[in-house]
Amino acid sequence: MPGRTLPTLTQAEVESHNSAKTCYVTVGTNVYDVTDFIDSHPGGAELILDYAGKDIAAILKDEDSHAHSDAAYEVLDESLVGFLVTQKLAPSTQDQVNTGDTQINEKVTPTIHPRTGMSCEEDLSKDTDLSQDYKTHKFLDLNRPLLMQVWYGGFSKEFYLEQVHRPRHYKGGASAPLFGNFLEPLSLTPWWMIPMLWLPAVAYGTYLAAPGFDRYGTLAVSWLSGLLTWTLLEYILHRFLFHLDHYLPDNRVGITLHFLLHGVHHYLPMDKYRLVMPPTLFLILATPFWKLAHAIFSFNWHLGTAVYCGGIFGYVMYDMTHYFLHHQNLPLWYKGLKKYHLAHHFLDYELGFGVTSAFWDRVFNTELPTAGKTK
Ligand SMILES: [Zn+2]
Ligand SMILES: [Zn+2]
Ligand SMILES: [Zn+2]
Repeated sequence: MPGRTLPTLTQAEVESHNSAKTCYVTVGTNVYDVTDFIDSHPGGAELILDYAGKDIAAILKDEDSHAHSDAAYEVLDESLVGFLVTQKLAPSTQDQVNTGDTQINEKVTPTIHPRTGMSCEEDLSKDTDLSQDYKTHKFLDLNRPLLMQVWYGGFSKEFYLEQVHRPRHYKGGASAPLFGNFLEPLSLTPWWMIPMLWLPAVAYGTYLAAPGFDRYGTLAVSWLSGLLTWTLLEYILHRFLFHLDHYLPDNRVGITLHFLLHGVHHYLPMDKYRLVMPPTLFLILATPFWKLAHAIFSFNWHLGTAVYCGGIFGYVMYDMTHYFLHHQNLPLWYKGLKKYHLAHHFLDYELGFGVTSAFWDRVFNTELPTAGKTK
């Protein structure tokens, strides 16, 4: 997969892959999954398993042990699955790094993820040197309104995608100009708009649906099934619509829509007013789902409405959670979730699509490797 960013793994994670079922080895900071190779190893399976979860740089070169041909190195090349971060630089230990450590750390260059240009979640909140950024990347000039630049920039899709997923931070988290005219306020949505607008709608819809049910229990079950459906939709929409990347039409319409939908959030992840979904956009996206719910439950309008309302409630919870993960100091349980989502921004945007939980990432094998997580 050319151009694919590989995840970073901690030493502890590599060491946990130490059996015939799953066997990782490292050469320097390269991590290889050699599980499939164990049985075909000319030097015997045992020898590989002796080094499962360990570094093999020395043994590869050690001619006395047994020689390794170029083919062996080719096998390794193909099984590269990620890169090693030292414990010190692993995402979960970042907050413990204090200034006293700087001198010690200077020798260890932090792993900068090539696609995002960042090495940790704190980097997301470091001010971008605006003119320098424009000079270096020749993408968008943050001193000027962004939308027209996206529209007229003549960017190829490849260049656009490469750039838009590199997070920038505008003047301490302020909102960069998007339209640059009287339309500007329309581009800004404060987080509380979401519950304020849509919770009453959910309550009203549920009230309308209620008479179709003999018992509150069945109403609650239908509503909750809508809520559970949302968690899957959250994953699907984020992975396949917001990050349509691969199938995105390579023209200005495609690129501009991508930017407005989710690109701007990856470009400026800490912009408080370009984080939750603008109400107009929400209505456009929610309408087809209203039709879908009533097509599936065409035999019972009340049932379709109850399921739909549960789903919309799920959306409200999602968008608020997303906002809080970026901007609020959270209770312990949420801290893991926060790390997980911020890693989607600074580490690998092609993994970690679940925002309210990593459940569907686990199911569909797109889970981000965040250090400190227990398996
Ligand atoms: Zn994307
Ligand atoms: Zn985010
Ligand atoms: Zn994303």
